[in-house]
Amino acid sequence: MTVTEIALVGIGKIARDQHIPAVQDNPAFRLAATVSRSGGVEGVENHATVEALLSARPDISALSLTMPPGPRYEAAACCIAAGRHTMLEKPPGATVAEVLKLDRQARAAGVTLFVTWHSRHARAADAARRWLAGRAVRSVRIDWREDVRKWHPGQDWIWRPGGLGVFDPGINALSLATAILPVELHLTAATLVFPENRDTPIAADLTFAGPEGIEATAGFDWREQGGETWQIAVETDEGPLVLTDGGARLMIDGADQPVEGPGEYPSLYRRFAELIDTGASSVDVEPLIHVADAFMLGRRVTVAPFHD
Ligand code: NAP
Repeated sequence: MTVTEIALVGIGKIARDQHIPAVQDNPAFRLAATVSRSGGVEGVENHATVEALLSARPDISALSLTMPPGPRYEAAACCIAAGRHTMLEKPPGATVAEVLKLDRQARAAGVTLFVTWHSRHARAADAARRWLAGRAVRSVRIDWREDVRKWHPGQDWIWRPGGLGVFDPGINALSLATAILPVELHLTAATLVFPENRDTPIAADLTFAGPEGIEATAGFDWREQGGETWQIAVETDEGPLVLTDGGARLMIDGADQPVEGPGEYPSLYRRFAELIDTGASSVDVEPLIHVADAFMLGRRVTVAPFHD
């Protein structure tokens, strides 16, 4: 088996919680270096900038960008220009255009670009998609509610322009919904709730249109206390499907279903290895388009200031 030398860029919460263990457990990769302004990972070579790493280590053929979306485009464009395979955490960029541009750049350079949506790799996601395929969907209700103080403590970037606010977790729901539903939805209305001292929303209500008058709505909220709700409920002609726990648990007609697979991040790195092996890319911007549409159509409501 070919072992790909890989570097991680941006050693924050998700890099430490998920990427480092997933890379270390995958024999197709070797964690060769990091790019970190704050020190990186003990025992792993670190560089201060992406440019420094790219010039010092031509043998590193893949980079996984795990920083917030704001600085991602510049870093990804450098990696692609240097002929390296590039994997992007979600959301893949601060705008749709950035990601489409990276897609064109990667095609021209002949490298793999992997726009990841980790929730699509949740253990029950594929079983949900298979069950829904060919069934008539009557309604979809998405609820994605969590406590921002618990899940994003001290993260300033989520409240700045481009940080997406509650759409940072909400886009996970949209990535899952767009992967499992056998119908295409488009956003028709949104209400975005902004704390008066913040540039991004703390809550959002979305309405979508689909074929044959399907009723589809979503509620994202960061003000939830005492536990999270990460759920997609679908009514079909053959009963209800509920995908919950962020896609880790599936119920059909109220009965728990068996789930399979290695879990989100191990599955993401398996897929990255396959894409590199086969010279392919995976670039889907549909979840990001729904978010952009919500900002385009959204009615803005201002509420009391939010303090961490
Ligand atoms: P984070 O803890 O704030 O870490 C991001 C890291 O990126 C920072 O520690 C920093 O690492 C680096 N960085 C580079 N440029 C930066 C900049 N301009 N502003 C802030 N940090 C910068 O964020 P995170 O929670 O890991 O999230 C990173 C990405 O992963 C986001 O796109 C998020 O949506 C996604 N994600 C997060 C989670 C989660 O549970 N937190 C889950 C799934 C996906 P250095 O000090 O090493 O440079």
